[in-house]
Amino acid sequence: MNTHDSGRVAGLLESLGWRAAPDESSADMVLLNTCAVRENADNKLYGALGHLKAAKDARQAEGGDLTIAVGGCLAQKDGATITERAPWVDVVYGTHNIAALPRLLEAADSQQIPVVELVEALESFPSALPAKREVRHHAWVSIQVGCDNSCTFCIVPALRGPEVSRRPVDVVEEVRRLVDDGVVEVTLLGQNVNSYGRDLTGRSHFAELLRDVGAVDGLERVRFTSPHPRDFTEDVLHAMAETPTVCEHLHLPLQSGSDRVLRAMRRSYRRDRYLALVERTRELLPDAALTTDIIVGFPGETDEDFSETLDVVGRVGFDQAFTFVYSPRPGTPAAEMEQLDPDVVRPRYRALEQLVRAQSLEKHTALVGRDLELLLESPSRTDPSRLSGRTRGNHLVHLPAGDGYAPGDLVTARVVEASTHYAIAAAPTQVRRTAAGRATELALAAGGDWHADAAPVVTAPEGLPAHAAARRLPVHPG
Ligand code: SF4
Repeated sequence: MNTHDSGRVAGLLESLGWRAAPDESSADMVLLNTCAVRENADNKLYGALGHLKAAKDARQAEGGDLTIAVGGCLAQKDGATITERAPWVDVVYGTHNIAALPRLLEAADSQQIPVVELVEALESFPSALPAKREVRHHAWVSIQVGCDNSCTFCIVPALRGPEVSRRPVDVVEEVRRLVDDGVVEVTLLGQNVNSYGRDLTGRSHFAELLRDVGAVDGLERVRFTSPHPRDFTEDVLHAMAETPTVCEHLHLPLQSGSDRVLRAMRRSYRRDRYLALVERTRELLPDAALTTDIIVGFPGETDEDFSETLDVVGRVGFDQAFTFVYSPRPGTPAAEMEQLDPDVVRPRYRALEQLVRAQSLEKHTALVGRDLELLLESPSRTDPSRLSGRTRGNHLVHLPAGDGYAPGDLVTARVVEASTHYAIAAAPTQVRRTAAGRATELALAAGGDWHADAAPVVTAPEGLPAHAAARRLPVHPG
């Protein structure tokens, strides 16, 4: 969600004429989009602000300036505390008023004092703002913000407020515009996508939305995150199975396999419900990849609770699991509970890691010999002679780079090797060029970058104060 907000902030500022700086030292403004969900978020923010104070002092000593803005959910939580602890910050804004950022920057500039503005309710849906995409072929589309649940480990409801769904017609319209702009894959984004629409009409419309988005002409792939096992209804599985563009991948957070721990987490489903949902998914979508999130060492978790988690993981057989050692988030009920000894948690985490790694290897090995459609994403991070792509099940696959295809294109290639974190494929046997792939190829040939909008640095928009000329903006996702 924060990455998506960063794209919105960058898009909003670019629409006003600002451009990204290649690095922090040449930037005239630094905007920190914070995330309170992350571990040690406070320490990281104030550490970064301390570092920025030195940069701002140095700039001012040379007769210039460095504007510092802080947004995101930690800003929503701490508000004016940020400018009390770091009075050199120019602007603080919250999760609900991103659209106000240009006005707040102007106010800080003219008043020469820190401007803090937080609002309690959403002013405008983030997706209504212009967006900057990281890559040409993919876009995040926010369908819902906030959350009506109250998981005891999570700070999101306190910071993002109750669920607010975006009108289906607006979601579909945005997807159409994105496809016109070269996007072939969208990920629908919400804290609890299965309850999408409940605040609009009293019932979930997520299955209909999947069908409507999936029918947009020119769109190749639809993904979504995150569903909630309690609210997941079978009509969503039918929509997935019957809409060819919706990928066969379900990320279904488990968090714990113990009913006792789920109760303490206030996750209002139980292991049987979870396992039944997995079984039904496998009946309706036999080829679906399943991924999950699991927390180890939640307060009160016993050896028996943990073995129930291992049991559920063993029964499901995940393609990938994101595993976390529980760490308290200030302001959440679980932070007040008695915490477990890290020496007790560490071996549990290792045991779970071992199991999920073995499962991932098994799933990747099962792909060997198959000809799979891959959406090419980027050059490989570790080997420039390779490209990286994703199967419809979201498995990472590396394959040889070559002429006639580029990130953004769809190819078919045979998987020849498997490892825990990825698979390797041979050169493609089929290539389907896309507008995004062609644009990336042209950008690379011109010495550019595979990222979207890798625009050169330009001067600030007309009308900005004189000292703001040639300002450039790096955006740091939280
Ligand atoms: Fe947080 Fe639970 Fe809502 Fe997810 S469903 S955002 S974990 S409160």
